[in-house]
Amino acid sequence: MTTHRVVPTAIALLLTLIGWPSPVPAQQTPAAPVSAPLGNIRYEITFDSITAQSRSLQVAMSFDVTGPGPVLLSFPEWTPGAYELSFFARWVSNFAPTADDTALKWDKLDYDTYRVIPGGAKAVTVRFNYLADTLDNAMAWARPDFALFNGTNVLPYPEGRGTSFPATVTIKTEPSWLVATGMQSVPQQPHTYREGNYHDLVDKPFFVGRMDLDSTQVAGAWTRLATYPAGALAGSARAETLAELGKMIPAEAAVFGETPWPHYSVMMIFDSAYGGGSALEHTNSHVGIYSPGFIGNPILASITAHEIFHAWNVKRLRPADMVPYRYDRSEPTVWLWVSEGITDYYADLAILRGGIINQQQFLSATGDKMAKVADAPPTALEDASLSTWIHPTDGSQYIYYPKGSLAGFALDIMIRDASDNRHSLDDVMRELYRTTYKAGRGFTGADWWGAVSRAAGGRSFADFAAKYVDGREPYPWAQVLPLAGLRIQSDTTREARLGIVAGQDSAGAVVVRQILPGGAAEEAGVKAGDVLVAIGDIAITDPDFGTKFRERYGKEEGKPLPIQVRRAGQTTTLTGTVRLVPRVESRLAIDPAAAPKAVRVREGIFKGTVGQ
Ligand SMILES: [Zn+2]
Repeated sequence: MTTHRVVPTAIALLLTLIGWPSPVPAQQTPAAPVSAPLGNIRYEITFDSITAQSRSLQVAMSFDVTGPGPVLLSFPEWTPGAYELSFFARWVSNFAPTADDTALKWDKLDYDTYRVIPGGAKAVTVRFNYLADTLDNAMAWARPDFALFNGTNVLPYPEGRGTSFPATVTIKTEPSWLVATGMQSVPQQPHTYREGNYHDLVDKPFFVGRMDLDSTQVAGAWTRLATYPAGALAGSARAETLAELGKMIPAEAAVFGETPWPHYSVMMIFDSAYGGGSALEHTNSHVGIYSPGFIGNPILASITAHEIFHAWNVKRLRPADMVPYRYDRSEPTVWLWVSEGITDYYADLAILRGGIINQQQFLSATGDKMAKVADAPPTALEDASLSTWIHPTDGSQYIYYPKGSLAGFALDIMIRDASDNRHSLDDVMRELYRTTYKAGRGFTGADWWGAVSRAAGGRSFADFAAKYVDGREPYPWAQVLPLAGLRIQSDTTREARLGIVAGQDSAGAVVVRQILPGGAAEEAGVKAGDVLVAIGDIAITDPDFGTKFRERYGKEEGKPLPIQVRRAGQTTTLTGTVRLVPRVESRLAIDPAAAPKAVRVREGIFKGTVGQ
């Protein structure tokens, strides 16, 4: 997935705390309960103008009981791609199993497994309501005329019976409302879909209701665009989005040598209550939720390219730790820097190679990633990959996106340099796709580093892995960038700083965590634990706080600086002095004096080509 949250920039800038993520808690191996065998599984989901009023989905799961014992129905604990435990049984109510209209006995076996006693019944229907009140692409959300839901939310599975069972899903809705999903339609049966196994059933989210829906042919396959609310992405902005799909998808397919879907669905929700943007990938679709301000901004194309690239990288080519997906526990892996970070690298490359952004914009986006990594606590890619499940609070939570992207950039440069641009990171991705995904397995460390080394003519990357993937050393840009005819240009400016490390608490308050020596905050008497309220007349909660603070006080060195804090329930104003500290502003730039070989490497990266 990818997330672009709006966070106060001052906090990001001030966060200089060094931290080490905690290890993921040990998994307990549960006993292995097994459900009675089930056949002929059908799910029916009702969402219409009536159920919309209670923001609920009515679900009916019908099946034949084909053997003895209780029926054990489990709800997934997470949605693959959204690396957190959510426990979707939380949103279930009015659970009611029946056979021949007679209620069956039931209780719970564990917190997300229901135990139904069929009592000799052969045909059973289980009904329940699912509360759709969470605007999150891994969850379910309803409005008066629309619902988003995922199979992981509403499709329970028979415990201990594997994932290879086929099932149908039928949507009951208003006659004039539309249904969008990546699922396979059953001919002649309106709003009915069928998949051959549980992985596919829960990997194809639904939009139901009023929406804009149209299709375009891209790379020999239909690409659908479903957007809510109707009219949100319209006119030239919609035409532009459709055109961009036609530019980015071929650039991505070229990396792997195939477009692996018969049809792909781009599903977008625009909601003004949603700060930022976030999207979640699937095998032949993705769901993005965005602030309407993202329309017309290249960030929307970048996120879209990221999610579509995931159709190859993570939905198909995937770390062995997550093959197969299992739904009853977390699946931590040290490889999210490849699955997410390198996806992010290719998203930027795809929109560059497709002509959606230019070289300057690509270099600027890459420079922004360098700045994000520099501002975060030094964190190993492997550790950040593992830790995301527990949402670390030290500023390292999503660092495997920009830092993993930069690892991909560095590896691409080193492979192209070692092979005089005859090979690239594309070879690594393509080889692993063929030798692991196509062979029905996930990739391991030996697979990954073996492919990297082969692409680079046999060169060892053990040192790179130890220092920059398992270790926390800063990337060696001074050595790597010249190989691609690039360099970092730095300008030193002086800017106002408070001299604190701060973070948001669960209520959104900005709490001082640490006072840095010699800063304005220390002089004013700010203490760790104080809640920052305002600096001068700039509220700390202002989304542009960082920019406004630097503009207001950037030329006021030595003048009084009022710092309003809340301490023990009392609001007081402390007074310090404006302090300016040097800040090095760096940007990634083309070196006009680069040697011909470095120019070949650079052009190869920009254009997606190898050779001279
Ligand atoms: Zn992602």
